[in-house]
Amino acid sequence: MVVDEVRAPVVDRADVVVVGGGPAGVSAAVAAARRGASVTLLERYAALGGLASGGMVLVLDDMCNGAEVTVRGIVSEYVDRLAALGLAVYPPEADRYASPETWARWARWGAYDFHTHTNPKPICYAVAFDPDGWKRVSNDLVRENGVRLRLHSWFSRPVLEDGTIKGVVCETKAGPQAVLGDIVIDTTGDIDVASRSGAEFVHDRYLVTLVFRLGGVDTETADRFELEHPREVRAINRKVKRMLGGAWELWWLKTPLPGVVWCNCPHLTGFDGADPESLTDAEFEARGRIASVVEYVREVLPGFERCYVVDVAEQIGVRQTRLLRGEYVVTKDDLVTRRHFPDAVCRGRDYYTPYRALLPTGVEQLLVAGRHYSATPDAQRMSREIPPCMAMGQAAGVAAAIAADAGTTVREVPAPRIQKAMHEQGADPGDVPSANATVDEEVPA
Ligand SMILES: Cc1cc2nc3c(=O)[nH]c(=O)nc-3n(C[C@H](O)[C@H](O)[C@H](O)COP(=O)(O)OP(=O)(O)OC[C@H]3O[C@@H](n4cnc5c(N)ncnc54)[C@H](O)[C@@H]3O)c2cc1C
Repeated sequence: MVVDEVRAPVVDRADVVVVGGGPAGVSAAVAAARRGASVTLLERYAALGGLASGGMVLVLDDMCNGAEVTVRGIVSEYVDRLAALGLAVYPPEADRYASPETWARWARWGAYDFHTHTNPKPICYAVAFDPDGWKRVSNDLVRENGVRLRLHSWFSRPVLEDGTIKGVVCETKAGPQAVLGDIVIDTTGDIDVASRSGAEFVHDRYLVTLVFRLGGVDTETADRFELEHPREVRAINRKVKRMLGGAWELWWLKTPLPGVVWCNCPHLTGFDGADPESLTDAEFEARGRIASVVEYVREVLPGFERCYVVDVAEQIGVRQTRLLRGEYVVTKDDLVTRRHFPDAVCRGRDYYTPYRALLPTGVEQLLVAGRHYSATPDAQRMSREIPPCMAMGQAAGVAAAIAADAGTTVREVPAPRIQKAMHEQGADPGDVPSANATVDEEVPA
């Protein structure tokens, strides 16, 4: 093995090294540690959470297939812990897929099923949460499960030997540092590790969004005005969206903090989330748009007269860059027809993810989980929400721990063992297809 001990001293060794401490990465690290593996988690920034904290993406979506909650496991632990801190809000079961009146109560929490085309859309299980609470829960989970965490560690290159990954090198304030492991899980969101290790991938792009929060908002007044003057509000919202350059249907949503609203906008097109020059331009363009919208709504929107910017996400919201082309590439058709795979190891809303979509080609002992998993660009856009990324992380974590324990390669881990381990950890691997699934009988080689 060639590791430059002088320029990159080996600072740690573990059974499993997880690179990227976002929703998928923390889930992978915790899941692997719970199955007895020694785990080191590396994160480039000062806090855990990825887009769910630094990116301030503040609603957990895509967790249910109608009334059935399909994504469980570590994500449910986050919800319970955040709720206990008063930092998560979600509709009770009685209000989900109930009468259209529940729309008025819950839509501004972002808890609606945006995959349906009814008007209003049905209220579903989705969770609004606080970003600092997410960091706190992530820290607690990592500590309680004995994961060794190294923040401020920016992955720069893999340590490879004959096509097998043996560890990674990170850039740090102390210079380059190497962390070695039997198995590496790439949860960087942009397959930083896999793309530099010889794995096949495609590079695409989608909207980027610099989200922000406004404080000093009288949400009751805003709600009442909207109810009493729907046409006026529609006109104001149209103008706001034009100024932003793009936003979803509701450009502001409530948060667990009173008087603080979340703005999942402005959406910007034509930027590359893996190119620093392009990202710099996006940051500047977004901040200009935010400033002019705040000025406008202060003047015209009741409830927003005294609003101010609480914070702009420290991390711009990048949805898609490099995507793995793994052993199996999930397609839009797979998602739309709810194709069930014999090696399903986790679920999203109403779809299934095969273990093969976490396995790169061209490099051994590496797993990939999260928004950069092996899917076509159009399929990834429909299957990249936080809960399914966490489920993928959990599946990758248990698979890595099983391989480490058995002394086999990750490619050799049988899917039924991962499925069993997922059940044992309270997650749903999707081994039993639901009634509306298309069943794929083909057994992977
Ligand atoms: C604007 C926006 C709005 C969204 N809205 C929603 C929503 O409402 N609900 C929902 O459920 N989902 C939403 N999503 C999708 C969701 O946020 C992401 O798909 C999800 O967070 C992906 O999780 P991840 O762990 O795969 O990646 P990320 O959250 O991107 O985490 C990757 C982690 O890896 C770290 N990292 C990256 N590179 C390196 C490196 N070289 N070295 C070390 N560490 C590294 C990062 O700092 C980060 O912590 C939205 C996304 C965006 C951008």
